[in-house]
Amino acid sequence: MERIETLNNENRMSTQELLQLIQAKIDAGCTDFEINACGQHNIGGSSWAKDKSKTLNFVLRNPGQRVGAMGMKGTFIVVEGSVPADTGWLNSGAEIIVKGDCGDTAAHCAASGEIYVGGRVGARSGALMKHDPKFKLPEFWVLKNTGSFSFEFMGGGVAVICGHDCEKLKSVLGERSCVGMVGGTVYVRGAVDNVASCVEILPLAQSDIEFLASGMERFLSKIGRIDLKKELTNWSEWHKIQPIAVKTSQKRMSIKEFRETEWIEGGIFGEFISDDFSVHELAGTGDSRCRIPEWNKELCIGCNICIKNCPQKAISESFVADSEKCIGCGICAALCPKSAWKMVNNNKEITK
Ligand code: SF4
Ligand code: SF4
Repeated sequence: MERIETLNNENRMSTQELLQLIQAKIDAGCTDFEINACGQHNIGGSSWAKDKSKTLNFVLRNPGQRVGAMGMKGTFIVVEGSVPADTGWLNSGAEIIVKGDCGDTAAHCAASGEIYVGGRVGARSGALMKHDPKFKLPEFWVLKNTGSFSFEFMGGGVAVICGHDCEKLKSVLGERSCVGMVGGTVYVRGAVDNVASCVEILPLAQSDIEFLASGMERFLSKIGRIDLKKELTNWSEWHKIQPIAVKTSQKRMSIKEFRETEWIEGGIFGEFISDDFSVHELAGTGDSRCRIPEWNKELCIGCNICIKNCPQKAISESFVADSEKCIGCGICAALCPKSAWKMVNNNKEITK
């Protein structure tokens, strides 16, 4: 076990110094760390062993933001206490245990691995969680509750919010959670109020109970609260939240409609901003393009791949890219098997 003190005689080790020290010790063969931090960022996730058969183990006290961010399979992190924002950001396979609370955006963008929290988590936690079937499903277990706007734009994975010590809360998911959720499942115990209209709250099926039952003991053991098993396994107190879009096809909502009805109104900063809800085009055409496609007749074999795949339907049968439609995305050049399209800088002045 390698013990690292990051504060010596009031001299604080910087994040960069700490991460470089950890990496040097890993390169020298060390795999187990106990670190007394003073708010240094990114501990755990950004340290990798070249020998992938080795596991890395971290016990942390008082770390800063992004504990375990981008953590890989084979990394195990235990935080003895609470942590600030972004814990497990883009977790890619690490196991992260936080014995206390997490700040905002815990498990944000998590794509694999497990995050176990023995307290509460802040706003926007679990937002943008996702699942690539090539990798293990990301799991995010929380003993108590989440802040508002959690699971925003969630696309996959599983979150389990146990609602312990939340009897007085109007909602264990705060306000306006699950906005824009398109995939994954949030299991929740206790009161839920004011979630987005794109999701539905459902009773548990037998397969849900089996999943929760198989994971609950593991979770409670990890956070040292196995005494709560009886309280948290009364499945009649649980529900699951899933996006309606998973089951039924809905009419596609325009971005303007989404902003007016789902995102801004009553949502974050809704009381403080005035917004005309106009949506600006991000991809310009004509002279606004950064690059323009140029076609070389000599190289072309007439396969029509470019014509079929141009997202703007900008290429004519005679291979002229209509500048009023073309956005300079370069897809034609990327797909052409003969490199007959070349993207060149558009040096023209932008005209309005
Ligand atoms: S750059 Fe993009 S938009 Fe323009 S012609 Fe090629 S594929 Fe179409
Ligand atoms: S993809 Fe290339 S080779 Fe095929 S038609 Fe288009 S320019 Fe010609």
